[in-house]
Amino acid sequence: MHGTRKQRKGITHILFPLFGNRVPGQLIIQYTDKCNARCPQCGMRVTEHFSRSKLDIETVKRMIDHAAENGVNALSFTGGEPFLFFDDIMELVTYAGDAGIKYTRTGTNGFMFMNPSTPDFNSRIRRIAEGIAASGLYTFWISIDSAVPALHEQMRGLPGVIEGIEKALPIFGEYGIYPSANLGINRNTGGVFEAGTSSAQIYDSFRKAFGKFYSAAIDLGFTIVNACYPMSIDADDPGELSAVYGATSEASLIQFTKEERAVVFSALFDTIPEYRSKIRIFTPRTSLHSLIRQYTLEPGYSYSCRGGIEFFFVNAGDGNTYPCGYRGTDNLGKFWELDFEKLDKKAQCRRCDWECFRDPSELSGPLLTLFGNPAFFLKRVLKDPPHIKLWLEDIRYFAACNLFDGRTPPDYRKLSAFAPE
Ligand code: SF4
Ligand code: SF4
Repeated sequence: MHGTRKQRKGITHILFPLFGNRVPGQLIIQYTDKCNARCPQCGMRVTEHFSRSKLDIETVKRMIDHAAENGVNALSFTGGEPFLFFDDIMELVTYAGDAGIKYTRTGTNGFMFMNPSTPDFNSRIRRIAEGIAASGLYTFWISIDSAVPALHEQMRGLPGVIEGIEKALPIFGEYGIYPSANLGINRNTGGVFEAGTSSAQIYDSFRKAFGKFYSAAIDLGFTIVNACYPMSIDADDPGELSAVYGATSEASLIQFTKEERAVVFSALFDTIPEYRSKIRIFTPRTSLHSLIRQYTLEPGYSYSCRGGIEFFFVNAGDGNTYPCGYRGTDNLGKFWELDFEKLDKKAQCRRCDWECFRDPSELSGPLLTLFGNPAFFLKRVLKDPPHIKLWLEDIRYFAACNLFDGRTPPDYRKLSAFAPE
């Protein structure tokens, strides 16, 4: 028996609040900073010594209640490794769904996919699938760092995990669960990074790497893929950022200058059209277009991030709320005490590339300005016509992907409209 699925209201549910000149809210709760992996690009890897924490389940329910009352309709549980507390997370996902929050997300480093040859592997995965299916979870991500299995496993310190994922995906499919492969972009995305330092070399290397990654994800059996932009703070110009989220790092694997970021994003922008009819690619090209332009031509070009306005991050360490994982000096206190009306709605921030916040900010930006400041909207459209064309294309693609609903299979007939000519 597969779990029940709550009714989804579709794209209007996401876009409707924009008519009220606000973006649907998003809350990312770091449930724990405990982790069992060794990712060299992460400050929370198991080899780092610091006092680890986990939030209390009843406290998180209070946050969820407040989120639902204030128009939050996207809720993520991140870590650390959230699946170390699988039962808690599923209970909270169910609670959020019951409170009316439709778009729930959580994921794993995949530790449970190790040892795929052991006799109890299938039953272990079925138990997880049953839990996810029953919870109504909208998006289930599995993190993957490289198209090369051995390199991914070595980076994560999780041997055998890729074979386990390949074996587990059809089992999840039986339960109507279509996980997303989450690529944390890093220099080893396509294999050990050997390219030189010129822009052309970096572009070529990442162009191949992204293609290799998408092909590998399809071959493994994934039907959704997402890219997490490098969680680094610009080594040349850290600005006022002081990360509270330990997933940020100064590791060279994910350190990119502004110029390099623009090149990496260009490579991704150019690769997506080759693969988006074969696998649902969440990464909006509008967002990449804006970030490229922000880093090359116009620092203020992209739509300002909604972090601290409608999007928030709760830190496992102190249980407090921050505008995002990067602004650790802006402590907003307990989430259930946060007065959304008192927040500065006009605050501007473009200081990092955290896709969790930057992608939805870019996608909602045109509608927000259309309804809030039509003259400004028109000025932007006339100034950069390709942007609005890309935006419309992204919206059509999101619709063809059924809003990346991780509980429905891909509709390849709809996706075929996006095949390269
Ligand atoms: S990236 Fe995730 S899995 Fe890897 S060490 Fe950090 S928290 Fe753990
Ligand atoms: S751009 Fe958004 S996510 Fe990045 S530092 Fe600013 S508010 Fe935070």
